[in-house]
Amino acid sequence: MTGRRTTTQGVYFNELMHTMERLADVGGWCLDVSEQTLFWTDQTKEIFGCKQTPPVEDVFAMYEENSRKQLQLMLQACEERGQGFSLDAQIVTPTGETRWVALMGEAKITDGVIRYVFGAVQNITRKKRRFEELKSQREQLDITLNNLLDGVVLIDRQGIIRSFSKPAEAMFGYRSAEVLGRNIRMLMPEPYAREHDGYMQNYHETGERKIIGIGREVEAKRKDGSVFPIDLAVTQTDFQSERQYIGTIRDISRQREAARRIEMLSYYDETTKLPNRYKFMSQLTELLGAKQRVGVLAINLDFFARINTVHGFEAGDQVLRVISHRVGEILPEGFVLAKDIGDRFWIAGILDSLATFYELAAKVLAIVRQPIQCQEQTYFLTASIGLVSAPETAASSELMAHAETALYTAKEEGRDQFSVYEDVMTAHVIDDYRMEVGLRKALIDGELECWLQSKVDAQHKVIGAEALVRWRRENGAIVSPARFIPLAERLGIIVDIGRFMLCAVADLLARLQQQGVLSAAFRIAVNVSPKQFLQPDFVTQVQSIFGQRNVPLSAVTLEITENLLLGNESLIRDRMLELTSQGVEFSIDDFGTGYSNLKRLQSLPLAELKVDREFILGVGQGKHQEALLETILRLAQGMQMNTVAEGIETPEQATFVLSQGCQQLQGYLFSKPTPVNEWFEEFVMCKQ
Ligand code: C2E
Ligand code: CA
Ligand code: CA
Repeated sequence: MTGRRTTTQGVYFNELMHTMERLADVGGWCLDVSEQTLFWTDQTKEIFGCKQTPPVEDVFAMYEENSRKQLQLMLQACEERGQGFSLDAQIVTPTGETRWVALMGEAKITDGVIRYVFGAVQNITRKKRRFEELKSQREQLDITLNNLLDGVVLIDRQGIIRSFSKPAEAMFGYRSAEVLGRNIRMLMPEPYAREHDGYMQNYHETGERKIIGIGREVEAKRKDGSVFPIDLAVTQTDFQSERQYIGTIRDISRQREAARRIEMLSYYDETTKLPNRYKFMSQLTELLGAKQRVGVLAINLDFFARINTVHGFEAGDQVLRVISHRVGEILPEGFVLAKDIGDRFWIAGILDSLATFYELAAKVLAIVRQPIQCQEQTYFLTASIGLVSAPETAASSELMAHAETALYTAKEEGRDQFSVYEDVMTAHVIDDYRMEVGLRKALIDGELECWLQSKVDAQHKVIGAEALVRWRRENGAIVSPARFIPLAERLGIIVDIGRFMLCAVADLLARLQQQGVLSAAFRIAVNVSPKQFLQPDFVTQVQSIFGQRNVPLSAVTLEITENLLLGNESLIRDRMLELTSQGVEFSIDDFGTGYSNLKRLQSLPLAELKVDREFILGVGQGKHQEALLETILRLAQGMQMNTVAEGIETPEQATFVLSQGCQQLQGYLFSKPTPVNEWFEEFVMCKQ
């Protein structure tokens, strides 16, 4: 029984071996060491693609070069020293097919002699291919991940980092070896780091997601501890039944920086880094939203442009920075400060009382007045400020416009002061605007006229006249120059008006010359505004207007005001000298009302002082007033100039000024301003 079973077992054993070999794709082999002959099992032949067992050399030839060398060395070591081996190698079958085999062998020792090498060979081609495929897929994936701009971080359920792409390394400053196996918290700043575990736990328990699947802007922490903004998108995968999370991370510092720069450029002033007009408007709107009383200050530096002109823009910018710094320091809590274009600043805030509002304005004036020391240069500045406090309903742009209106009033009233907006001002502004439009039209449509007012000497003989502009509106109404000259001056239209008057006077003088009634001492005075006088071509303009009509400049007096003399001294003197050398005389108009420096007046080629009507009105008004007039007249005489008293309306006034040594008189008592043609006819008639 036993033997039979053994036989049956023997039969089955062979079959079992074959089946096993086939199923596992594993074959056996045996090398006779002394004979160098091989024995292959059927499956080995199958694997190598051979019908018979080939000679050893042929078998070696089937191996790919590197594997062959390795195999030869290993086999030698096994034959000589009994070392077992195993090797994955590539072979090419006689039919040209490439296969991968796993080869193993060990020495078979009998009586202490290595007679055989027994071995197994497994066909691992499929496994190898699959592995190669996976490997190349993996490489492909790595290449992709590492070439993405985004970093990719893989974590497991516990938050442990399992994979960390190259871009992630660059972003965080860690090498992947430094982070793998550690908790993702290390890449997060507080409070994210603290909250992360709880957040993950909550997610596992409830499935409530805050971030899975959605991109979110959060903060991340680099190795050096610095924090940067990222855009994070997390997806969840279940890999080999283990949950994993893939985080895609984009560093958005650049975008943030670009956004910040754009914001900076559009909402902040380059020079002072203060909010600009647009930013201020939105800040103001926000303040108004609080439904409390809001105050706005519009601040302008007086004559600031001069600093730019004289010392350059860099100096101007520095001064602006000093001012912004100073104002910033006295700014009450909750107030905002902004810098508009040019030298315009804005302040706004919620007012607890009007008194504190005015105090703030006064403080700003005071700090601007303090001398500014900048690069060995000292600047003295003043400011003009317009104030407005808002009823709850006002819009920011409206409030700002009102503050600006008040600001202009402060400027007009002499600068270095603040002015508070009142509603009538708007009406005034609208009037001004209408007048501006009208005035520009007047110049084009010829609505301006030249009128003359005679000047007389002590014997009431006409010795000259003053030309005064008039504006006759379409409806025939005459507009007083007192109303439109200041506006024209502000708008620069005065230059054209001035030229018109010079031409009209030159025409008149030419006619008088033609009539033969122009005596050598006779002069017509023309009012010249500072803006007109300071035009670069003023001198040549005067020369050509009178030259073209062959009228000598010795028939012309130019009336200038003390304001003009505040400007560039040598430029003004040079111009005056050039004109006086050709016969022009200069007269100081409204003498006594300005701030002239007497020394300066004396250094200029002035022929005449016109004492302002304001002082003439003092006659008969008491000792004090008359003493003032006397002083002014004496002052004029002391400077050895011809004096003219203007605005003489009564014989008493005339007598008084003549008794004080005044040589010429002008006023309604002798003649009222008259349209040029009427005046001409009257004058010519008197002469005949
Ligand atoms: P102004 O140069 O001081 O001119 C004298 C002003 O006093 C004139 O007013 C004149 O009409 C007025 N006036 C003359 N006599 C009397 C009088 O007895 N009583 C009174 N109450 N007033 C008298 P007007 O023509 O209205 O001119 C006002 C100002 O406008 C002038 O003051 C001058 O500063 C300016 N202006 C007038 N025409 C021109 C011009 O052509 N160019 C420039 N730049 N300014 C001009
Ligand atoms: Ca005048
Ligand atoms: Ca005057």
